[in-house]
Amino acid sequence: MQYQSTRDSRIRVSASEAIVRGLAPQSGLFVPEAFPQADLAAWKNLSYPELAQRVLAGYLTDYQEQFLEQATTSTYGDAFGGKAGYTRKVHDGVYALELWHGPTCAFKDYALQLMPKLLVEAKHNLGRTEKTRILVATSGDTGKAALAGYAGLDGIEISVFYPDAGTSEIQRLQMVTQTGENVRVYAVEGNFDDAQTGVKRVFADASVADALERRDIRLSSANSINWGRLAPQIVYYFYAYFRLVEQGAVAWGHPVDFCVPTGNFGDILAGYYAKRMGLPVGKLVCASNKNNVLTDFLRTGTYDARRTFYKTTSPSMDILISSNLERLLYHVSESCEKVAGWMKDLAETGTYTVDADTLAKIQQNFAAGYADDMQGAAEIHDRFVQDGYLCDTHTAVAFCVAENNRSEAPMVVLSTASPFKFPRDVLAALGEQAPESDFAAMKCLTEKTKQQAPASLCVLDSLPVRFSEKIRPEEIRAAALR
Ligand SMILES: *Cc1c(COP(=O)(O)O)cnc(C)c1O
Repeated sequence: MQYQSTRDSRIRVSASEAIVRGLAPQSGLFVPEAFPQADLAAWKNLSYPELAQRVLAGYLTDYQEQFLEQATTSTYGDAFGGKAGYTRKVHDGVYALELWHGPTCAFKDYALQLMPKLLVEAKHNLGRTEKTRILVATSGDTGKAALAGYAGLDGIEISVFYPDAGTSEIQRLQMVTQTGENVRVYAVEGNFDDAQTGVKRVFADASVADALERRDIRLSSANSINWGRLAPQIVYYFYAYFRLVEQGAVAWGHPVDFCVPTGNFGDILAGYYAKRMGLPVGKLVCASNKNNVLTDFLRTGTYDARRTFYKTTSPSMDILISSNLERLLYHVSESCEKVAGWMKDLAETGTYTVDADTLAKIQQNFAAGYADDMQGAAEIHDRFVQDGYLCDTHTAVAFCVAENNRSEAPMVVLSTASPFKFPRDVLAALGEQAPESDFAAMKCLTEKTKQQAPASLCVLDSLPVRFSEKIRPEEIRAAALR
Protein backbone atom coordinates (compact mmCIF):
# COMPACT_ATOMS: atom_id res chain seq x y z
CA MET A 1 0.00 0.00 0.00
CA GLN A 2 1.35 3.38 -1.01
CA TYR A 3 0.38 6.78 0.39
CA GLN A 4 -0.07 9.95 -1.61
CA SER A 5 -0.51 13.59 -0.74
CA THR A 6 -4.02 15.05 -0.70
CA ARG A 7 -2.65 17.93 -2.78
CA ASP A 8 -0.32 16.17 -5.21
CA SER A 9 -0.87 12.64 -6.55
CA ARG A 10 2.69 12.41 -7.84
CA ILE A 11 4.02 12.21 -4.29
CA ARG A 12 3.94 8.54 -3.29
CA VAL A 13 5.54 7.00 -0.22
CA SER A 14 5.42 3.84 1.91
CA ALA A 15 3.53 3.68 5.21
CA SER A 16 6.80 3.96 7.16
CA GLU A 17 7.76 7.04 5.20
CA ALA A 18 4.33 8.63 5.74
CA ILE A 19 4.61 8.07 9.49
CA VAL A 20 8.17 9.38 9.79
CA ARG A 21 7.38 12.47 7.71
CA GLY A 22 4.00 13.32 9.27
CA LEU A 23 3.07 16.01 6.76
CA ALA A 24 3.40 15.66 2.99
CA PRO A 25 5.31 18.38 1.10
CA GLN A 26 3.39 21.67 0.56
CA SER A 27 1.34 20.86 3.65
CA GLY A 28 -0.73 18.10 2.04
CA LEU A 29 -1.72 15.12 4.18
CA PHE A 30 -0.82 11.53 3.41
CA VAL A 31 -3.76 9.31 2.44
CA PRO A 32 -3.78 5.61 1.51
CA GLU A 33 -4.24 5.05 -2.22
CA ALA A 34 -6.94 2.40 -1.57
CA PHE A 35 -9.21 1.06 1.17
CA PRO A 36 -8.21 -2.48 2.16
CA GLN A 37 -11.35 -4.61 2.39
CA ALA A 38 -12.41 -6.09 5.71
CA ASP A 39 -13.09 -9.78 6.22
CA LEU A 40 -16.00 -9.21 8.61
CA ALA A 41 -16.84 -12.87 9.18
CA ALA A 42 -13.24 -13.73 10.05
CA TRP A 43 -12.80 -10.65 12.27
CA LYS A 44 -16.01 -10.91 14.23
CA ASN A 45 -14.77 -12.88 17.23
CA LEU A 46 -11.23 -11.53 17.47
CA SER A 47 -9.89 -9.95 20.65
CA TYR A 48 -9.16 -6.21 20.46
CA PRO A 49 -5.40 -6.64 19.91
CA GLU A 50 -5.99 -9.31 17.25
CA LEU A 51 -8.49 -7.13 15.44
CA ALA A 52 -6.12 -4.15 15.63
CA GLN A 53 -3.42 -6.26 14.04
CA ARG A 54 -5.70 -7.27 11.10
CA VAL A 55 -6.95 -3.73 10.46
CA LEU A 56 -3.46 -2.23 10.61
CA ALA A 57 -1.92 -4.97 8.46
CA GLY A 58 -4.09 -3.78 5.55
CA TYR A 59 -2.61 -0.29 5.76
CA LEU A 60 0.91 -0.75 7.12
CA THR A 61 2.03 -3.18 4.44
CA ASP A 62 5.75 -2.57 4.89
CA TYR A 63 5.62 -3.54 8.59
CA GLN A 64 6.33 -7.12 9.61
CA GLU A 65 3.32 -9.11 10.77
CA GLN A 66 5.20 -10.19 13.86
CA PHE A 67 5.91 -6.61 14.83
CA LEU A 68 2.24 -5.63 14.46
CA GLU A 69 1.16 -8.57 16.56
CA GLN A 70 3.58 -7.72 19.32
CA ALA A 71 2.83 -3.99 19.23
CA THR A 72 -0.97 -4.37 19.31
CA THR A 73 -0.81 -6.97 22.09
CA SER A 74 1.46 -4.88 24.29
CA THR A 75 -0.59 -1.72 23.62
CA TYR A 76 -4.20 -2.81 24.00
CA GLY A 77 -3.93 -5.51 26.62
CA ASP A 78 -3.15 -4.51 30.18
CA ALA A 79 -2.84 -0.78 29.53
CA PHE A 80 -6.57 -0.61 28.81
CA GLY A 81 -7.49 -2.84 31.74
CA GLY A 82 -9.12 -5.38 29.43
CA LYS A 83 -11.58 -2.68 28.38
CA ALA A 84 -10.27 -1.68 24.96
CA GLY A 85 -13.33 -1.03 22.80
CA TYR A 86 -15.73 -1.50 25.72
CA THR A 87 -19.29 -0.89 24.50
CA ARG A 88 -22.37 -0.71 26.72
CA LYS A 89 -26.05 0.08 26.39
CA VAL A 90 -27.19 3.48 27.69
CA HIS A 91 -30.86 3.36 26.74
CA ASP A 92 -33.02 1.89 24.00
CA GLY A 93 -31.05 1.78 20.78
CA VAL A 94 -28.28 4.01 22.13
CA TYR A 95 -24.88 2.67 23.14
CA ALA A 96 -21.66 4.16 24.50
CA LEU A 97 -18.29 3.12 23.11
CA GLU A 98 -16.07 3.99 26.09
CA LEU A 99 -12.66 4.99 24.81
CA TRP A 100 -11.19 6.27 28.07
CA HIS A 101 -9.98 3.12 29.80
CA GLY A 102 -6.40 3.79 28.72
CA PRO A 103 -3.58 5.18 30.88
CA THR A 104 -4.51 8.89 30.53
CA CYS A 105 -8.32 8.47 30.57
CA ALA A 106 -8.98 10.02 27.13
CA PHE A 107 -9.53 8.42 23.72
CA LYS A 108 -6.23 9.80 22.40
CA ASP A 109 -4.51 6.91 24.17
CA TYR A 110 -5.70 4.58 21.38
CA ALA A 111 -3.48 6.37 18.93
CA LEU A 112 -0.75 7.72 21.16
CA GLN A 113 -0.01 4.44 22.91
CA LEU A 114 0.59 2.76 19.55
CA MET A 115 1.95 5.46 17.25
CA PRO A 116 5.30 5.85 19.07
CA LYS A 117 5.97 2.15 18.47
CA LEU A 118 4.99 2.59 14.82
CA LEU A 119 7.44 5.48 14.56
CA VAL A 120 10.35 3.59 16.08
CA GLU A 121 9.66 0.65 13.73
CA ALA A 122 9.26 2.96 10.71
CA LYS A 123 12.74 4.35 11.35
CA HIS A 124 14.00 0.80 11.63
CA ASN A 125 12.23 -0.16 8.34
CA LEU A 126 13.81 2.82 6.59
CA GLY A 127 17.27 2.25 8.09
CA ARG A 128 17.25 5.61 9.89
CA THR A 129 19.41 5.93 12.96
CA GLU A 130 19.05 9.59 13.99
CA LYS A 131 17.39 10.64 17.22
CA THR A 132 13.82 11.92 16.91
CA ARG A 133 12.78 14.84 19.06
CA ILE A 134 9.03 15.28 19.38
CA LEU A 135 7.67 18.75 20.18
CA VAL A 136 4.08 19.07 21.35
CA ALA A 137 2.06 22.17 22.17
CA THR A 138 -0.97 21.10 24.13
CA SER A 139 -4.05 22.50 25.77
CA GLY A 140 -4.25 19.39 27.93
CA ASP A 141 -5.21 15.92 26.74
CA THR A 142 -2.74 15.48 23.90
CA GLY A 143 0.28 16.42 26.00
CA LYS A 144 -0.23 13.75 28.60
CA ALA A 145 -1.26 11.09 26.12
CA ALA A 146 1.87 11.81 24.04
CA LEU A 147 4.14 11.82 27.11
CA ALA A 148 2.73 8.49 28.24
CA GLY A 149 3.16 7.02 24.76
CA TYR A 150 6.72 8.18 24.07
CA ALA A 151 8.21 7.86 27.58
CA GLY A 152 11.08 5.42 27.74
CA LEU A 153 11.28 4.70 23.98
CA ASP A 154 14.66 4.22 22.33
CA GLY A 155 15.90 6.93 20.00
CA ILE A 156 13.06 9.33 20.85
CA GLU A 157 12.83 12.39 23.08
CA ILE A 158 9.71 14.39 23.77
CA SER A 159 9.21 17.96 24.97
CA VAL A 160 5.73 19.19 25.85
CA PHE A 161 4.74 22.85 26.13
CA TYR A 162 1.52 23.71 27.91
CA PRO A 163 -0.04 27.11 28.66
CA ASP A 164 0.66 28.13 32.21
CA ALA A 165 -2.93 29.21 32.82
CA GLY A 166 -4.69 27.09 30.26
CA THR A 167 -5.07 23.56 31.62
CA SER A 168 -7.05 22.04 34.45
CA GLU A 169 -5.26 21.11 37.66
CA ILE A 170 -5.58 17.43 36.80
CA GLN A 171 -4.24 17.88 33.29
CA ARG A 172 -1.26 19.86 34.57
CA LEU A 173 -0.41 17.29 37.23
CA GLN A 174 -0.77 14.47 34.71
CA MET A 175 2.00 16.12 32.69
CA VAL A 176 4.43 17.41 35.34
CA THR A 177 4.51 14.07 37.18
CA GLN A 178 5.36 12.08 34.02
CA THR A 179 8.24 9.67 34.53
CA GLY A 180 10.94 8.72 32.01
CA GLU A 181 14.42 9.99 31.16
CA ASN A 182 13.49 11.09 27.62
CA VAL A 183 10.65 13.47 28.56
CA ARG A 184 10.57 17.21 29.30
CA VAL A 185 7.63 19.39 30.23
CA TYR A 186 7.49 23.19 30.17
CA ALA A 187 4.87 25.67 31.33
CA VAL A 188 4.66 28.54 28.86
CA GLU A 189 3.53 31.97 30.05
CA GLY A 190 0.33 32.80 28.21
CA ASN A 191 -2.52 30.88 26.63
CA PHE A 192 -2.64 27.87 24.30
CA ASP A 193 -2.16 30.04 21.20
CA ASP A 194 1.09 31.44 22.63
CA ALA A 195 2.42 27.93 23.21
CA GLN A 196 1.23 26.64 19.84
CA THR A 197 2.55 29.61 17.87
CA GLY A 198 5.91 29.26 19.63
CA VAL A 199 6.17 25.57 18.74
CA LYS A 200 5.05 26.14 15.14
CA ARG A 201 7.76 28.78 14.80
CA VAL A 202 10.40 26.32 15.95
CA PHE A 203 9.22 23.77 13.36
CA ALA A 204 9.45 26.39 10.62
CA ASP A 205 12.90 27.64 11.74
CA ALA A 206 15.60 26.21 9.46
CA SER A 207 18.36 27.28 11.87
CA VAL A 208 16.86 24.99 14.54
CA ALA A 209 16.73 22.06 12.12
CA ASP A 210 20.36 22.71 11.10
CA ALA A 211 21.64 22.96 14.64
CA LEU A 212 19.87 19.76 15.61
CA GLU A 213 20.97 17.92 12.49
CA ARG A 214 24.57 18.53 13.45
CA ARG A 215 23.78 16.59 16.62
CA ASP A 216 21.98 13.90 14.58
CA ILE A 217 18.55 14.89 15.88
CA ARG A 218 15.42 15.38 13.78
CA LEU A 219 12.28 17.17 14.90
CA SER A 220 8.90 15.53 14.57
CA SER A 221 5.38 16.22 15.78
CA ALA A 222 2.78 14.01 17.44
CA ASN A 223 -0.31 15.80 16.22
CA SER A 224 -3.34 14.17 14.74
CA ILE A 225 -2.60 14.73 11.07
CA ASN A 226 0.02 11.96 11.16
CA TRP A 227 -1.31 8.81 9.50
CA GLY A 228 0.14 6.83 12.41
CA ARG A 229 -2.35 8.52 14.72
CA LEU A 230 -5.35 8.03 12.50
CA ALA A 231 -5.00 4.36 11.55
CA PRO A 232 -5.28 2.91 15.08
CA GLN A 233 -8.64 4.67 15.54
CA ILE A 234 -10.30 2.68 12.75
CA VAL A 235 -10.18 -0.48 14.86
CA TYR A 236 -12.75 0.41 17.50
CA TYR A 237 -15.54 1.03 14.98
CA PHE A 238 -15.25 -2.59 13.90
CA TYR A 239 -14.93 -3.81 17.46
CA ALA A 240 -18.04 -1.90 18.61
CA TYR A 241 -20.07 -3.18 15.66
CA PHE A 242 -19.20 -6.79 16.47
CA ARG A 243 -20.16 -6.23 20.15
CA LEU A 244 -23.55 -4.87 19.09
CA VAL A 245 -24.12 -7.95 16.94
CA GLU A 246 -23.07 -10.12 19.88
CA GLN A 247 -25.50 -8.31 22.21
CA GLY A 248 -28.32 -8.79 19.69
CA ALA A 249 -28.63 -5.04 19.15
CA VAL A 250 -28.19 -5.27 15.38
CA ALA A 251 -28.60 -8.06 12.84
CA TRP A 252 -25.41 -9.13 11.06
CA GLY A 253 -24.86 -6.91 8.05
CA HIS A 254 -27.37 -4.24 9.07
CA PRO A 255 -26.09 -0.69 9.61
CA VAL A 256 -25.17 1.09 12.83
CA ASP A 257 -24.91 4.89 13.19
CA PHE A 258 -22.04 6.49 15.11
CA CYS A 259 -22.05 9.90 16.77
CA VAL A 260 -18.61 11.39 17.45
CA PRO A 261 -17.60 14.40 19.58
CA THR A 262 -15.43 16.17 17.05
CA GLY A 263 -12.57 18.66 17.03
CA ASN A 264 -9.85 18.01 14.50
CA PHE A 265 -12.02 15.45 12.62
CA GLY A 266 -9.59 12.58 13.20
CA ASP A 267 -11.80 10.32 15.27
CA ILE A 268 -14.86 10.56 13.02
CA LEU A 269 -12.74 10.22 9.88
CA ALA A 270 -11.52 6.87 11.17
CA GLY A 271 -15.19 5.81 11.10
CA TYR A 272 -15.35 6.80 7.44
CA TYR A 273 -12.33 4.60 6.73
CA ALA A 274 -14.07 1.71 8.52
CA LYS A 275 -17.12 2.26 6.31
CA ARG A 276 -15.06 2.33 3.12
CA MET A 277 -13.42 -0.92 4.26
CA GLY A 278 -16.84 -2.57 4.28
CA LEU A 279 -18.20 -2.09 7.80
CA PRO A 280 -22.00 -1.56 7.73
CA VAL A 281 -22.01 2.04 8.95
CA GLY A 282 -25.15 4.11 8.36
CA LYS A 283 -24.57 7.76 9.25
CA LEU A 284 -21.51 9.23 10.90
CA VAL A 285 -22.90 12.05 12.99
CA CYS A 286 -20.44 14.88 13.64
CA ALA A 287 -21.09 16.50 17.03
CA SER A 288 -19.64 19.95 17.74
CA ASN A 289 -19.88 22.36 20.64
CA LYS A 290 -20.56 26.08 20.20
CA ASN A 291 -17.54 26.19 17.86
CA ASN A 292 -19.81 24.76 15.17
CA VAL A 293 -17.82 25.40 12.01
CA LEU A 294 -18.16 21.72 11.01
CA THR A 295 -21.94 21.67 11.53
CA ASP A 296 -22.28 24.55 9.10
CA PHE A 297 -19.90 22.97 6.61
CA LEU A 298 -21.55 19.56 6.59
CA ARG A 299 -24.96 21.16 6.14
CA THR A 300 -24.10 23.80 3.53
CA GLY A 301 -20.79 22.95 1.87
CA THR A 302 -19.24 26.26 2.98
CA TYR A 303 -16.41 26.10 5.50
CA ASP A 304 -16.05 29.47 7.17
CA ALA A 305 -13.44 29.83 9.89
CA ARG A 306 -13.99 33.60 10.13
CA ARG A 307 -15.98 33.48 13.35
CA THR A 308 -15.67 33.98 17.09
CA PHE A 309 -13.69 31.37 18.97
CA TYR A 310 -15.47 30.18 22.12
CA LYS A 311 -13.88 28.58 25.16
CA THR A 312 -16.27 25.86 26.25
CA THR A 313 -16.53 23.12 28.87
CA SER A 314 -15.50 20.64 26.14
CA PRO A 315 -12.06 22.19 25.44
CA SER A 316 -10.73 19.37 23.25
CA MET A 317 -13.40 20.29 20.70
CA ASP A 318 -12.64 24.02 20.74
CA ILE A 319 -11.22 24.30 17.24
CA LEU A 320 -11.88 26.37 14.15
CA ILE A 321 -9.54 24.73 11.64
CA SER A 322 -10.29 21.04 11.52
CA SER A 323 -7.22 19.62 9.78
CA ASN A 324 -8.32 16.06 9.04
CA LEU A 325 -11.32 17.24 7.03
CA GLU A 326 -8.85 17.65 4.16
CA ARG A 327 -8.53 13.87 3.94
CA LEU A 328 -12.29 13.45 3.60
CA LEU A 329 -12.40 16.12 0.90
CA TYR A 330 -9.79 14.18 -1.02
CA HIS A 331 -11.54 10.82 -0.70
CA VAL A 332 -14.93 12.11 -1.84
CA SER A 333 -13.72 14.44 -4.60
CA GLU A 334 -10.81 12.21 -5.67
CA SER A 335 -9.16 15.38 -6.92
CA CYS A 336 -5.87 16.80 -5.60
CA GLU A 337 -6.45 19.91 -7.68
CA LYS A 338 -9.78 20.62 -6.03
CA VAL A 339 -8.42 19.95 -2.54
CA ALA A 340 -5.38 22.15 -3.13
CA GLY A 341 -7.70 24.92 -4.35
CA TRP A 342 -10.01 24.74 -1.33
CA MET A 343 -7.08 24.72 1.08
CA LYS A 344 -5.57 27.70 -0.69
CA ASP A 345 -8.87 29.56 -0.33
CA LEU A 346 -8.97 28.66 3.34
CA ALA A 347 -5.43 29.89 3.96
CA GLU A 348 -5.93 33.12 2.01
CA THR A 349 -9.52 34.05 2.83
CA GLY A 350 -10.55 31.90 5.80
CA THR A 351 -13.31 30.19 3.84
CA TYR A 352 -14.07 27.84 0.94
CA THR A 353 -17.09 26.22 -0.65
CA VAL A 354 -17.15 22.74 -2.16
CA ASP A 355 -19.10 21.86 -5.31
CA ALA A 356 -22.59 20.33 -5.14
CA ASP A 357 -21.41 16.87 -6.15
CA THR A 358 -18.79 16.76 -3.37
CA LEU A 359 -21.30 18.01 -0.81
CA ALA A 360 -23.86 15.39 -1.87
CA LYS A 361 -21.29 12.62 -1.45
CA ILE A 362 -20.32 13.92 1.98
CA GLN A 363 -23.96 14.12 3.06
CA GLN A 364 -24.55 10.50 2.02
CA ASN A 365 -22.20 9.54 4.84
CA PHE A 366 -22.30 12.36 7.38
CA ALA A 367 -24.86 14.23 9.45
CA ALA A 368 -24.03 17.02 11.89
CA GLY A 369 -25.26 19.00 14.84
CA TYR A 370 -24.02 20.98 17.81
CA ALA A 371 -24.81 21.60 21.46
CA ASP A 372 -23.71 24.47 23.70
CA ASP A 373 -22.47 24.19 27.30
CA MET A 374 -25.97 24.51 28.79
CA GLN A 375 -27.38 21.76 26.58
CA GLY A 376 -24.35 19.60 27.36
CA ALA A 377 -24.81 20.08 31.10
CA ALA A 378 -28.50 19.19 30.84
CA GLU A 379 -27.51 16.05 28.93
CA ILE A 380 -25.01 14.98 31.65
CA HIS A 381 -27.82 15.41 34.17
CA ASP A 382 -30.45 13.56 32.13
CA ARG A 383 -28.25 10.62 31.19
CA PHE A 384 -27.28 10.16 34.83
CA VAL A 385 -30.76 10.57 36.29
CA GLN A 386 -32.65 8.69 33.56
CA ASP A 387 -30.12 6.02 32.56
CA GLY A 388 -27.67 5.87 35.47
CA TYR A 389 -24.97 6.69 32.95
CA LEU A 390 -22.25 9.17 33.88
CA CYS A 391 -20.50 10.93 30.99
CA ASP A 392 -17.99 13.75 30.54
CA THR A 393 -18.57 17.14 28.90
CA HIS A 394 -17.36 16.07 25.42
CA THR A 395 -19.42 12.90 25.34
CA ALA A 396 -22.44 14.88 26.54
CA VAL A 397 -22.30 17.01 23.41
CA ALA A 398 -22.44 13.84 21.34
CA PHE A 399 -25.37 12.36 23.29
CA CYS A 400 -27.26 15.58 22.69
CA VAL A 401 -26.58 15.64 18.96
CA ALA A 402 -27.21 11.88 18.63
CA GLU A 403 -30.72 12.34 20.01
CA ASN A 404 -31.58 14.73 17.16
CA ASN A 405 -30.14 12.45 14.50
CA ARG A 406 -31.67 9.07 15.22
CA SER A 407 -32.59 6.72 12.38
CA GLU A 408 -33.95 3.15 12.46
CA ALA A 409 -30.43 1.93 13.16
CA PRO A 410 -28.85 1.63 16.61
CA MET A 411 -26.69 4.61 17.56
CA VAL A 412 -23.24 4.28 19.09
CA VAL A 413 -21.95 7.40 20.85
CA LEU A 414 -18.18 7.58 21.14
CA SER A 415 -17.36 8.40 24.74
CA THR A 416 -14.03 10.18 24.54
CA ALA A 417 -13.02 11.06 28.10
CA SER A 418 -13.59 9.87 31.65
CA PRO A 419 -16.09 12.08 33.52
CA PHE A 420 -13.49 12.25 36.31
CA LYS A 421 -11.17 14.22 34.05
CA PHE A 422 -13.61 17.14 34.20
CA PRO A 423 -15.03 16.64 37.70
CA ARG A 424 -16.02 20.24 38.42
CA ASP A 425 -18.12 20.71 35.28
CA VAL A 426 -19.69 17.27 35.64
CA LEU A 427 -20.57 17.91 39.30
CA ALA A 428 -22.09 21.27 38.45
CA ALA A 429 -24.16 19.64 35.71
CA LEU A 430 -25.49 17.21 38.30
CA GLY A 431 -26.69 20.18 40.33
CA GLU A 432 -23.95 20.13 42.98
CA GLN A 433 -21.82 22.98 44.23
CA ALA A 434 -18.39 22.15 42.78
CA PRO A 435 -15.39 22.73 45.08
CA GLU A 436 -12.46 24.77 43.74
CA SER A 437 -10.03 21.87 43.61
CA ASP A 438 -10.32 19.11 41.01
CA PHE A 439 -9.34 16.53 43.59
CA ALA A 440 -12.01 17.59 46.04
CA ALA A 441 -14.45 17.57 43.12
CA MET A 442 -13.41 14.03 42.18
CA LYS A 443 -14.21 12.88 45.72
CA CYS A 444 -17.60 14.63 45.64
CA LEU A 445 -18.35 13.05 42.27
CA THR A 446 -17.60 9.60 43.67
CA GLU A 447 -19.86 10.27 46.68
CA LYS A 448 -22.65 11.55 44.47
CA THR A 449 -22.50 8.82 41.81
CA LYS A 450 -21.02 5.86 43.73
CA GLN A 451 -18.58 5.45 40.83
CA GLN A 452 -14.85 5.16 41.36
CA ALA A 453 -12.47 7.65 39.79
CA PRO A 454 -9.71 6.02 37.69
CA ALA A 455 -6.75 5.14 39.91
CA SER A 456 -4.31 6.97 37.63
CA LEU A 457 -6.14 10.24 38.37
CA CYS A 458 -6.62 9.66 42.11
CA VAL A 459 -2.89 9.22 42.79
CA LEU A 460 -1.86 12.40 40.97
CA ASP A 461 -1.73 14.69 44.00
CA SER A 462 0.65 12.33 45.78
CA LEU A 463 3.17 11.88 42.93
CA PRO A 464 6.43 13.85 42.87
CA VAL A 465 6.36 16.88 40.55
CA ARG A 466 9.30 16.47 38.16
CA PHE A 467 8.92 19.59 36.03
CA SER A 468 8.34 23.10 37.34
CA GLU A 469 10.16 25.25 34.80
CA LYS A 470 8.20 28.20 33.46
CA ILE A 471 9.37 29.86 30.24
CA ARG A 472 8.27 32.75 28.03
CA PRO A 473 7.00 31.94 24.50
CA GLU A 474 10.21 33.31 22.97
CA GLU A 475 12.22 30.81 25.04
CA ILE A 476 10.55 27.79 23.39
CA ARG A 477 13.24 27.79 20.70
CA ALA A 478 16.05 27.54 23.26
CA ALA A 479 14.18 24.79 25.11
CA ALA A 480 13.73 22.83 21.88
CA LEU A 481 17.46 23.07 21.23
CA ARG A 482 18.63 21.79 24.62
C1 LIG B 1 -9.30 15.16 21.02
C2 LIG B 1 -10.64 14.96 21.64
C3 LIG B 1 -11.83 15.04 20.88
C4 LIG B 1 -11.85 15.39 19.41
O1 LIG B 1 -11.28 14.39 18.60
P1 LIG B 1 -10.83 14.74 17.09
O2 LIG B 1 -10.19 13.52 16.58
O3 LIG B 1 -9.85 15.89 17.23
O4 LIG B 1 -12.04 15.15 16.34
C5 LIG B 1 -13.03 14.78 21.53
N1 LIG B 1 -13.08 14.50 22.85
C6 LIG B 1 -11.96 14.43 23.62
C7 LIG B 1 -12.10 14.13 25.07
C8 LIG B 1 -10.71 14.64 23.05
O5 LIG B 1 -9.61 14.58 23.82
